[in-house]
This record gives sequence, C-alpha cells and structure tokens, in this order.
Amino acid sequence: MKLDTPVSVLNGVGPVVKKGLERLKIKTVQDLLWHVPRRWEDYSQITKIRNIKPGKVAIVACIEVINVRRSARMKRLTITEAILSDGTGTIKVVWFNQPYLTTTLKKDQNYLFAGNFEFKNNYLSLNSPSFEPANEANFQGAIYPIYPETAGITSKTLQKLITQCIDTTEQITDDLPDSIQEQAEVVGLGEALHLLHQPKNMHDVERGRDRLGFEELFWLMLTGMTLKAEIQTEDAYKIPFDLSVVESILNQLNFELTDAQRKSAWTIFKDIEKNKPMNRLLEGDVGSGKTLVALLALVMTVKAGYQAALMVPTEILARQHMVTLTNLVKSLGIETSLLISALPMAEKKLVQEKIHNGKTDIIIGTHALLSEGVEFDNLALVVIDEQHRFGVNQRRKLKTKAQAMPHVLTMTATPIPRSLALVVYGDLDVSVIDSLPPGRSPVNTKVAREIDRSTIYFMVDTLLGQGQQAYIVCPAIEENDITGLKSVEAEYKKLQKSVFSHRRIAMLHGKMKPAEKAEIMEDFRAKKYDILLATTVIEVGVDVPNATVLIVENAERFGLAALHQLRGRVGRSNLQSYSYLFSESQSPMAYKRLSAMEKTTDGFRLAQIDLELRGPGEIYGTTQAGILDLRFANLLDAAGLAKAKTIANNFLETGEMLQYKPALERVNQLKKLTSLD
Ligand code: ADP
Ligand code: MG
Repeated sequence: MKLDTPVSVLNGVGPVVKKGLERLKIKTVQDLLWHVPRRWEDYSQITKIRNIKPGKVAIVACIEVINVRRSARMKRLTITEAILSDGTGTIKVVWFNQPYLTTTLKKDQNYLFAGNFEFKNNYLSLNSPSFEPANEANFQGAIYPIYPETAGITSKTLQKLITQCIDTTEQITDDLPDSIQEQAEVVGLGEALHLLHQPKNMHDVERGRDRLGFEELFWLMLTGMTLKAEIQTEDAYKIPFDLSVVESILNQLNFELTDAQRKSAWTIFKDIEKNKPMNRLLEGDVGSGKTLVALLALVMTVKAGYQAALMVPTEILARQHMVTLTNLVKSLGIETSLLISALPMAEKKLVQEKIHNGKTDIIIGTHALLSEGVEFDNLALVVIDEQHRFGVNQRRKLKTKAQAMPHVLTMTATPIPRSLALVVYGDLDVSVIDSLPPGRSPVNTKVAREIDRSTIYFMVDTLLGQGQQAYIVCPAIEENDITGLKSVEAEYKKLQKSVFSHRRIAMLHGKMKPAEKAEIMEDFRAKKYDILLATTVIEVGVDVPNATVLIVENAERFGLAALHQLRGRVGRSNLQSYSYLFSESQSPMAYKRLSAMEKTTDGFRLAQIDLELRGPGEIYGTTQAGILDLRFANLLDAAGLAKAKTIANNFLETGEMLQYKPALERVNQLKKLTSLD
C-alpha cells in the first residue's frame, strides 16, 4: 500500500462510505492519515455510577430499560432514552436521532459507555455517549480517537479503515530536518500521526500533538523572520524628527498625549528616521487613541516633503478619518484627499491626478488605494488601520514612482498578548498602547435576559432624553423565521411603533449603498438620530463620543473579539457608558464568553480568555482575515513558543535553511498566506 493508494481499496469502503469519505475530502490513504482525531476519549479510567460526577466519564454498565420516542417540540427529532445500571447505581442516558439503538443495544449485556455526564433539560444525564461491548474492549490503556465525522462515517468506521493503512505512516516524508527534530525533542511526522491515531495512553497523544504543534509554530516563525529579513534589504526615505511638527498638532488639542501614546509615537519617529522600511504593529485597546499617534507620523512625513497614506477597511471609517484629520492639519497647509471606490468617476480621476503630481499630501482611503490608476508621487509612509498584515508586494505596488519602499505602520484594536504577537507576527515590530486616556470610566456591561428588556429600554430612553445616543446591534439584516435571529429591519419596525416611537431611529447595514451609509453615519454623528440600529458594520473604528449605550441582540452569536470591538463604540468620552448583551442562550461556551465581557473591559485580558476558551486553533482577531489556522500549537505555552522561536532563528541565521529545499518551499507557501499580496 502506498500513500496515494485510493481509499476504495480498503475493506469496508462501499459506495456509501466512499461518498462519505469524499465529503470529508478523503480520497487517498494519505488524506485518511491526515484526518486527525478531534479529541480522544480515555476509556482507561472506569467510573462507578455511585461515584459519577458531571464531566467526561466512562462507565461499564448494562441496559435496564430502553425506549425511543419523538420529540414533542421538534417532530423530526427522535430521542432514545435508557436507564443504565452497574450494580452501584443507575443513570439516565440519552441519544438523539439514533432510533436503531433500541435494537443495537442488547438488554442484559455489559457495555462500555463514554461521554459527557451533564445537566440538560433539568436533569443530569449521560448525553450521546459512544459505546463498545464491554467484553471486547481492552480497559487497560484504551484511548479512543474521536474524529470529525459525517453522515454514515463514524469514528468507529474511521478507526477500522485507519488500522488497515497505519503502516504507511512510515512512508510519509518529513519536511522538518532531523537536526531540528533533535533540538526540539519531537518525534518524526509519521510517528506523530501513528501516535495520534493509535495512542496507547494520553502521553502518546501529547507526543503526537507536540510534534504537530511545534511544526506549525516553527514554519510560521520562520516565515515571519524571512519576511522581516527581506524588508530589511530595501531602502526607505529618512524622515527626520521635528519637534515643532508635534507641537503644531498637540497645540490644537484640549488634552495631552498619554504616556503610552508618547512612547509609541517616539518609537515610530525613531523607526522612520532610518533608511530601512519600518514594519511596525501598533497594538492598543479600542479607544486608546491610536489615530492620533498615526496622525503625528503622517504629518511628520509630509513636513519632510513626502506623501503619506492612511488605509482603512471600510468607507465609513475612511470618511470619518478624513473629517477628523483634515480638521487638524488644515491650518498647517497640508492637503488631504479621500480615495474610495464610491467616488464618482470624474472625482476619482481628479484625486488620482493630485496623488500622481504631488498636489495632495495625505491620502485617506480603502483598498482603492492599491487599485490600478493610483500612482503616488513620493509616498514614504503608509498607515493601515484595523488590519493585520500588509505584504511586500503591496508595498511594491505603492512604491510606483517613488525611489524607496514606504514605511508601514499597522494598527489593530483586536489586541493579542504581546508575547504572542511577537511570535505570530514575526515580521513585525510591536508597540503597545497599554492604557486609556484619563477620565474614562469603564463601560458598564451587563448580560441581559428577555425579562430585563423593559427596564433596560426605560433606562436607555432616559439617557436619550439627556441628549445621548445609542447603538442597537442585530446579527441579521432581514427577518428570518428559520434562524429566529433579531434583524435590523424587524427591530426597526417594532421599536419605531412601540417603546421608541418618540425617538429618531436610523438603520445601517451592509446591503445599503456606500453613499447612503456615509450619510446616515454623518447624520448620526450630527445628532440627527438618537438610535442607530445596525449590523456589525459599525464594529470597527467608528468614533461618535456622544454615543453612550450599546445594545447587542443575540449576543451569543458573536465572538469575544467582535463583542469587544462593538463595545468599543461606546465609552469614548467622559460620559458613563453602558452595554447590554441580550442572550437567551443556554450554551456554556456562550455563557463563559458573555460573563467574561461583564467582568473585564481590558482587550488584552479578553484576548487571553478567548485563547483559553478556544484552545489551540484560531487566534483572537485573525479569523476574519482568514490568516492562520493553528490546529495543534498551544499558544498559551510560553516556553514552547520561545523554544520554537529560538530554533527557527538559529535555522535562519546559520544559513541552514537556505540549503534545505523543503523549508524554502514551506516558507514560500506560507508567505502567500500570511501577507495580503
Ligand atoms: P482607537 O485607538 O480605538 O482608534 P481613537 O484614536 O479613535 O481610538 O481615539 C478615541 C477617542 O479618544 C477619540 O475621540 C480621540 O480624540 C480621543 N483621544 C485620543 N487621545 C486622547 C488623549 N490623550 N486624551 C484624551 N482623549 C484622547
Ligand atoms: Mg481606530
């Protein structure tokens, strides 16, 4: 058997199983081996029913009674219920949509059941456990892998198929050089997969995961370091520091920079003074005042005789920045321009011309800045707001007529812990604004239930009566009976007719035309509306300091990063702000997320919690950009992160990497993924 042998040659793969495997994207033996278990059930520890506690359990018991019925609420759902006994006690067990179990499970036979013993629908029960006839199972050190499944393909099926081809793991080529494996003290790739599919104990599982986790981090870091080295070979314009520039801006403000802002600004000035391109990430919680820091760098660049650009993800944000920045730089004789795709053709042409012949200094826009027809005169700095990555090729695109690569400052308000940022964004230097401007009181956050609604509306109405404004965020635009989610349109109709009939409400969502959205945002800022009923289009960056209330409907639908961003829309002035997260969800995961929001307003802390809740996997704030999918790396393991970093660094610095083709190929692949090119 070879790795590219089709799975159809395996015993037990008929047309139905073959179809199912295809749904799991498994065509060859190799695909099957890479179908790694999602989790492992430890059958080696058998619990007596007398001692059972909520959580993961394995018991040996026989069936006393078993019945199947239809759900009263959902007609299509069948519920199989049984009572299990092991001589020390009895418990209830429940399966859904497996009516055939009443015939599969024989009454007076012992089975090994493994699953979650939990509180559901008002009683404790063992829910959808897997089972094995007890006489067949080997209790000593029996670990059962549980795979991502699909209709007709159970973990048991997969185990049987994998057993037939497990020896082919020896044929797997390992891209990680032996020297690296030795330094990292990890097993080979084939062995790792073998251990994950057929572990003898949980330690085997750990060894397998360690290997795959290390590898993920290693390539990622190596890629970051390579990108960093590449950028350093380019030349950039030197932007000399000029104190009077800073003063000219700060003199117009009625507040002082925070220490954190001052420090970050200083680091940035130091960077852009060099003739090597800056590649810096400015992390700061929502509302920490990143825009002002960026503005100082933009103005410094323009005063040195170059152009500077500010690129943002949405047109709403572009327009907002255009207004605030223009106000601050007008008196300094600096020309600003807005470039977004919504502009009328003629106007766009005009802006492009001004950019080309240097008649405009600061250009604010969306990705339209990168489009054909945009040629800069002498662009020396690009600031990218609310985005993670910017690739070398994008820089090259912007370079056009200029002699040098632009400096790049990326800003993000979905912070990840600093140690982690250094690892994951290995190509970037990182600055952190770790405090908020003084005088802000934390947003008062409450998870709310339906019964609280009228009280909350009353309280919101009082604030509106005092001239403050509110956001109400719904997950959907239009009403939909199937999802049952709150929608902007339905809520609008309802609220306008009932509690808020005397208030001015506007809708804002992604299906509206850009110009329409911009107008509504402007009118909301100008206090022409009391309530902005929106989807998450307002999630990023929107700054209306007079808005002090945020209501999120179906809050369980949003991740922590999104909720934190949404909450950042309020609490942007000295007024006390409130956020109410409505949810009727019973899911423990949702509950943990929402109560984390109640407990802390610190984005960095929330990032840490998010990481803990989700485990290895998606990284806070990066999923939207679709950048990284770490399946095994443990991002909370600081020592592991440091180890991978040191080893990757050595590999690059000693030149070992350049002689090792598989590594170069890996890094090239990842480069494409990790930059927006
Ligand atoms: P973010 O970091 O989320 O992008 P912004 O740059 O939008 O935050 O700033 C949030 C608000 O705080 C803005 O209204 C801004 O004018 C104000 N601000 C910025 N720096 C300070 C400061 N040092 N003191 C007081 N207010 C500030
Ligand atoms: Mg911002």
